[in-house]
Amino acid sequence: MYFKKLVFTFLLFASFLLNAQQKVVKTQEEWKKILTPNQYYILREKGTERATTGRYDQHFKKGIYQCAGCKTVLFSSIDKYDAHCGWPSFDRSLKGSIEEREDNRYGWKRTEVICSTCEGHLGHVFNDGPKNTTGKRYCINSAALEFEKKE
Ligand SMILES: [Zn+2]
Repeated sequence: MYFKKLVFTFLLFASFLLNAQQKVVKTQEEWKKILTPNQYYILREKGTERATTGRYDQHFKKGIYQCAGCKTVLFSSIDKYDAHCGWPSFDRSLKGSIEEREDNRYGWKRTEVICSTCEGHLGHVFNDGPKNTTGKRYCINSAALEFEKKE
């Protein structure tokens, strides 16, 4: 009995270590070197691209969406849907890949979503998503994402 418990504790600890993500931390100058000015504006200065201008707004190919800053996989095309809002929308993110934070800028209470690895700004999450799945709408800037095709 005791042995079983020990093994269980060990497995729990091992899986924790495997899941623990290495944070990506860079200076402003380092980010500027690897990001385009638009990516920098969105990811590092919490900017928002103009509606319908992003390259992934009406993009429904099969694959995965990575963080444009650190390449962490954030979303799957399976969870992408057309919310007709002008930005790529997903009803869920991949487990542990993003963090949510309260955002009260402009006197408007919203929930900001950031990449949990590099803390880059991705967009916001709203509660007006598809009722038949999660009810969430992750409204993400195309410039914060990088698509990779997967069959
Ligand atoms: Zn990132």
